[in-house]
Amino acid sequence: MMVRRRTKLILLCLFFSLAALAFSLPGITASFFDELELSLEKQIGRNGYESIIAQMEVVDLPEEEIARLNNIFHRLVQVCSRRQELEFSLTVVKDDSVNAFALPAGYIFVHTGLLAYVQSDGELAGVLAHEIAHVDRKHGMNALKRQLGMGLLLQIFLKDASDELVKIGNLAVNLTQLGYGREAEYEADRYGVYFMEKAGYPRTEILNFWDRLVAESGGGENLAILQLFSTHPPTAERIKRIKALPPTPTQ
Ligand SMILES: [Zn+2]
Repeated sequence: MMVRRRTKLILLCLFFSLAALAFSLPGITASFFDELELSLEKQIGRNGYESIIAQMEVVDLPEEEIARLNNIFHRLVQVCSRRQELEFSLTVVKDDSVNAFALPAGYIFVHTGLLAYVQSDGELAGVLAHEIAHVDRKHGMNALKRQLGMGLLLQIFLKDASDELVKIGNLAVNLTQLGYGREAEYEADRYGVYFMEKAGYPRTEILNFWDRLVAESGGGENLAILQLFSTHPPTAERIKRIKALPPTPTQ
């Protein structure tokens, strides 16, 4: 155990020296830390993804349906700001509830229940754009940093403690189910509308989707629909805010 403890000590020293260096050479070390954080995010996202596909049934859709979904998804990814540094992926899982979610590093999931519920490509684009926005604005990573602290996350990552990284991947999955908080949801709505409109889908599509959900869940009896609401701020407020957003500039 002596060797291991020494390795840990060396890494900790390295970490603090680099942190100290960050103040003297902000340009160079900032990019070093960005790279480190990006690698960490990719590892956590990958672990979360593997945990989801071990628990849920991944659905194989007919070829033309896959092509349609990929087309919508890629149009949206193309306009988000992290398209160069991440490989976004879309996975369809079998679940009747109307829901979609995103893990750090761009792993997006949609339930079959959502695919059955949307009435147009634009409605689906609106929901996917919201999830892409969560990744683009790093809501999952920020929530993990709040829960565990960046120092601890990096320490685990540098130690290459795979068991602990798997646990953090699971925590990332749990956080998507709890939601990232009201402000993060409003921000994802804002960026989501921007991305969908940049990709050529008018915001009326996502507003139609929300209006229909609100109308149909009126009595609060439809559990399949309620899941989407449970992690989100009040829908009426979201709709109001989306309507009030400035028009998306065209090129
Ligand atoms: Zn959300």
